[in-house]
Amino acid sequence: MSTPYDWLDRNLASIHKANWYRSTQTITSKAGTIATIDGCEMLMFASNNYLGLASDRRLIEAAMSATQMYGTGSTGSRLVTGHLALHEQLEQAIADLKNTEAALVFSSGYLANLGAISAIVGARDLVLGDAYNHSCLKKGSLLSGAKAINYLHLDIADLAAKLQENRAKYRRCLITTDSVFSMDGDLAPLQEIMDLADRYDCMVLVDEAHGTGVFGDRGGGLTNAVGIEQELIQVGTLSKALGSLGGYVAGSAKLIDYLRNRAATWIYTTALSPADTAAAIAAINLVTTEPERRQQLWQNVEFLKQGLQDLGIQAIACDSPIMAIEFGDIELTMQIAQHLRHNGIFAPAIRPPTVPTARIRLTLMATHTTSQIQTLLQCLASV
Ligand code: PMP
Repeated sequence: MSTPYDWLDRNLASIHKANWYRSTQTITSKAGTIATIDGCEMLMFASNNYLGLASDRRLIEAAMSATQMYGTGSTGSRLVTGHLALHEQLEQAIADLKNTEAALVFSSGYLANLGAISAIVGARDLVLGDAYNHSCLKKGSLLSGAKAINYLHLDIADLAAKLQENRAKYRRCLITTDSVFSMDGDLAPLQEIMDLADRYDCMVLVDEAHGTGVFGDRGGGLTNAVGIEQELIQVGTLSKALGSLGGYVAGSAKLIDYLRNRAATWIYTTALSPADTAAAIAAINLVTTEPERRQQLWQNVEFLKQGLQDLGIQAIACDSPIMAIEFGDIELTMQIAQHLRHNGIFAPAIRPPTVPTARIRLTLMATHTTSQIQTLLQCLASV
């Protein structure tokens, strides 16, 4: 007998057929460079824990004492019962880190982007986004009801042409880009984007998910390292270099005031938990006061970059702790990921539809040792 859910079988079958089926692996160890995954101890080269803060004693202690003081849940949305003194402290710390007037904390980076974009633009507006932007930037544009057009990845000439062709037809225009592209590890030409935005009277939203804590003298992100002075909207996550959970928007005081009144993913959801909030505050403190973590991370980037070059392996980019290597089709890439795994290295294949081409995506942490990176290189050499 047929049921209204039979389409699920057909859909799952087609996902399998395209080799797009995804599954989870179970981790039973603390965040670090060595992880126990499905019962096996492995070297971790896939984590976003860039500075190694997710298991730092000081973050754990901050989370524990916040839990003891406030409890486990924040009990309500920010505008009702969930607004804690801790949230105010965190927002001030983010604004200081990002060099903005104000900041607003969301429950995740994904929700921050959905909420910000859908509040800032609407049906009469235009969003021009890099074709490789993260899913939440793309979904945020769709949710807003604005006309959404992609420009070619990192292609300033294409962005300029699309602005020239479309800008005048719309009321407001928002240009969106990741600062560090999550799957390729390359960097957006932020200054050129800002120059075009000035020329065409556009707002700019930069997703610093992979830039914050990693770039800039104090870890303020790529916007900070590039030294962009103009007004812009910075979005990011607390879950990568900052080792916690949650997202944020940082910008002018009036932007943040507006989002408090218009961003549905902030207004209608439960506030970030005391533990996550306190851990993020502790993380920002360490990001700014312990630059040696960032320096070590960049030394590791250099070491892996050199090692790959010596092996004649070309990564898509070597400009950040994310290095992605394309080996060919999906099946071959999956086999290589499996080979790495058999050799105790966790660096999974990332495949369509997440990315246009299958690749092994490697990410580095400040806490990786030279010998751990050498082990990875030896294993890649055997491939
Ligand atoms: N933007 C980018 C570029 C990301 O890579 C991610 C996380 N994968 C997000 C946003 C979402 O952040 P969060 O995990 O905090 O939802």
